[in-house]
Amino acid sequence: MREKVHTDAVLGDVLLRKAPRSRRISLRVHPVKGVIVSMPPYVPYAVGVAFLESRREWALAALRRASAVDAELPEGESVETLRARAKAELPARLQAFADRYGFHYNRLTIKHNTSNWGSCSTKGNINLNLNLMRVPEPLQDYVMLHELAHLRHPDHGPGFHAELERLLADHFSRHLEEDAFRAYLQPIGASRAKYRITSVLEKALRSYRPL
Ligand SMILES: [Zn+2]
Repeated sequence: MREKVHTDAVLGDVLLRKAPRSRRISLRVHPVKGVIVSMPPYVPYAVGVAFLESRREWALAALRRASAVDAELPEGESVETLRARAKAELPARLQAFADRYGFHYNRLTIKHNTSNWGSCSTKGNINLNLNLMRVPEPLQDYVMLHELAHLRHPDHGPGFHAELERLLADHFSRHLEEDAFRAYLQPIGASRAKYRITSVLEKALRSYRPL
C-alpha cells in the first residue's frame, strides 16, 4: 500500500492512501489518524486531493464530531475554576517564555472565548483563552509561543512559521524526558510537513475545542 501525506490549508495533514482493493475514492475521518482518502492505485494523488477539496466541509464537520468527546468541562470544573487556574498559572509561564526568548509584550488578558485559543494585537497585547486549562501542557506552551511569535510577525507567513518552529524546537528539546512532551515526538518524527513540530501540535490542538 502506498501513501502520501497532503497538507490541506483547512484540515491540516491528510493521509492519501492507495489501497489495492479499493474501486473508488472514499473519504473518512478516523478519531486518531484524522482524515484519510483511500483511492485505487491507478488514480493519481492529485485526483484524491481534488476529491478531498470538494468534500472539505463534510470532513471538517466529521472532524469536529470526532473531537466532541473533549468538548466538555472536566468534572468539578466550571468556567470560573478554569479562569482562576488560568490566572494563577499562565501569566508567569508567558513571562518566563518572553524572558527566555527576548520578547516584550504589553499586557496579558485571560479571556473566555469560543473562537480561538489566543490572540496578539498590533499593540503587543496578548489574550489567552481560559480553555487552555483543558488541554495538555505542550499544547498550552504551543499557544503561548505562537502568540509571542506574532510580536515579531503579525501574519502567518513563512517568517512567522520559521520563528515559531525554532522556538518550539528549543522548548521541546528541554522537555524530552517528560511523558507529556514525549507523546508528541513520534508524530513529529513521522510528519512530512515543512514545519513539523508546528504542524503536529496544531493538529493535536484541533482535537480540542474551546467551550
Ligand atoms: Zn496566529
